Amino acid sequence: MSTFRELLSHTKANITEIDFETGQNRLRTEPATIWLDVREADEYENGAIDGALHIPRGYLELQAEQKIPDKNTQLVVYCAGGTRSALAAKSLQDLGYSKVASLTTGFNGWKDKGGKFQVPRALSPEQRNRYSRHILMPEIGETGQLKLLDSSILLLGAGGLGSPAALYLAAAGVGRLGIVDFDIVDSSNLQRQIMHNETTVGELKVDSAKRALANLNPDIEVSTYPVRLSSANVMDLMEKYDVIVDGCDNFPTRYLVNDASIILQKPVVHGSIFRFEGQVSVFWPGQGPCYRCLYHQPPPPELAPSCAEAGVLGVLPGIIGSLQALEALKILLGIGDPLVGRLLTIDTLDMSFRKLKLRNDPDCPTCGENAKVELIDYDQYCIAPNMKASAT
Ligand code: ZN
Repeated sequence: MSTFRELLSHTKANITEIDFETGQNRLRTEPATIWLDVREADEYENGAIDGALHIPRGYLELQAEQKIPDKNTQLVVYCAGGTRSALAAKSLQDLGYSKVASLTTGFNGWKDKGGKFQVPRALSPEQRNRYSRHILMPEIGETGQLKLLDSSILLLGAGGLGSPAALYLAAAGVGRLGIVDFDIVDSSNLQRQIMHNETTVGELKVDSAKRALANLNPDIEVSTYPVRLSSANVMDLMEKYDVIVDGCDNFPTRYLVNDASIILQKPVVHGSIFRFEGQVSVFWPGQGPCYRCLYHQPPPPELAPSCAEAGVLGVLPGIIGSLQALEALKILLGIGDPLVGRLLTIDTLDMSFRKLKLRNDPDCPTCGENAKVELIDYDQYCIAPNMKASAT
């Protein structure tokens, strides 16, 4: 049995401690050193040494190996006054870390002596609770959530595909959403367009959408554009956003958006639905083929399937729109393998999911070797009001 005082002096005798001057020197001459802040979250949020890694003392043994995989990394551990960091340094040594030092002055002494520090950006307690299921995943964490909150997505269409996509993206905390749709909510939309409801019939879809999203997550900003997408406005609209989710599902828009995305070098998450079948892909200029690599020109009006009053099974847009939202999140977070150069096709009657490889066409009129991109307003044959509602 020993007292805390004895434990601490025994610990300090078995670790390396550095003072303020040595710490300053380290910061200047050994940039690869990891500065490990083991204080509690509220202490860390009020200020920390520039670029420090934060693992509260209580989580140190649990998270150290995941966050600092190389056990030969130079580590300087600090707390507020040099006691918790001494105990932390001993634990890290016991875990096999070979180059650990504890800062004797702690953060308080560091600050008092004029050491540089910054107030780190962090989620609020409400945000930490709201996004806790994201934060729990090492691939996302608080850093990933902050990235989502700093990101923006433009949704083309607030219909069948746009509804689930917008709801999930808002829920996930994508900080800025833009929605383009000039249509008005009709009761025949409610069979699948789940962002709208009985009380918003007759309103602009973008207004109905904005209200639904604000009710779901007041943390995000929603901009609405009740306009018809055309060559005159597509560049201005798309330019303000990081990723485009195309839920328009008509050929004139698809081609216009494709061509604008090549000029702006923005990824477009494409989705389309027809009766029981759906498709998803990501057209990301510079990373893979574009939509015109598949079909150089739009089909003639009589062959365009979304023009026909073909109907669509109610749940299907929910699946495709959700997949589009998921692909958009992956792009923003830089995780996984987005559907670039691949077309996912879903047949819900036999529940088959297939992935087809898509190739860059060297003769593509917009991204091929002799491409010349020019925005064209194709005949708006697909979006006569009574037709448009059929598939989207
Ligand atoms: Zn192309």
